[in-house]
Amino acid sequence: ARQFTRPLNDLANQYNVVLSAVAGAERVFEIIDEEPEKDDPQAKRVDQLHGAVEFRSVDFSYQEGEQTLSNIDLRVESGQTIALVGPTGAGKTTLISLLAQFYQPDGGRILLDGEDASKITKASLRRNMGIVLQDSYLFETTVRENIRYGRLNATDEEVVQAAKAANADDFIRKLPKGYDTVLHADGSGISHGQRQLLSIARVMIADPALLILDEATSSVDTITEMKINNAFQQLMKGKTSFVIAHRLNTVKNADIIVVIQSGRITEQGTHQELLKENGYYASLLQSNSIQKNG
Ligand code: ADP
Repeated sequence: ARQFTRPLNDLANQYNVVLSAVAGAERVFEIIDEEPEKDDPQAKRVDQLHGAVEFRSVDFSYQEGEQTLSNIDLRVESGQTIALVGPTGAGKTTLISLLAQFYQPDGGRILLDGEDASKITKASLRRNMGIVLQDSYLFETTVRENIRYGRLNATDEEVVQAAKAANADDFIRKLPKGYDTVLHADGSGISHGQRQLLSIARVMIADPALLILDEATSSVDTITEMKINNAFQQLMKGKTSFVIAHRLNTVKNADIIVVIQSGRITEQGTHQELLKENGYYASLLQSNSIQKNG
């Protein structure tokens, strides 16, 4: 696998964006390599976002002749949870990439707290955003510093608090040197699920108003799965959370379930509302393609 140390370090340091998925990171890596991300000349810094999000008639394509997202309309209030569901390739990742300003819409607008997102500097925007994707990236440093990457001025005590809230403190204390154990970038030494808990702790300490989460479907044991679920719930409290959802519980409890098919929102509403519609969402539940455990 390629090493993403430089841009990931840059991102973690400058933006407090917590990138965990190698796939997602690769995409970001490409963008960064191609061109340093530029802000609109009129872009302003924001300090604290509240987390209201609106997509207004957003269109986007990666290349000419194909429409990846069409006419996306979505209104999200601060603190709400949005579950994105739909087939692979439908456009869920693209939607969150637009939200994170990795790409700009070809048409329409994205508003954050009522402000056009393109008029907010990317650095200040990403300080308000936490991303946990499927595969956790670890830096070759101690557990303590790996968590502190979420917010570089966090105290040791805050690191421990975040680890506790993320259900990571127990296993960390059992490592050979506890919080001073040096981790390997390839993840050897700790389990996949434990890596995920660490990346949740990292976002916990950053405490951003906006979360982007991709629920892992990878195999972890049931107890770790429960710990991860619980940590996600803790993390999402009071934050606007966009979740590429694979677990039934997450979807059921979301304030808004957004069904995306072939780049369009085809259904939007609560669990009950969408069951009544008896469309794609209802058929998804019937076919058991959403994980029931968790
Ligand atoms: P999902 O997350 O729902 O699986 P994606 O947003 O990843 O879907 O992909 C939507 C469509 O855009 C797919 O057809 C995919 O092949 C295409 N796509 C995704 N990323 C890129 C990219 N960087 N360049 C070109 N096409 C892309």
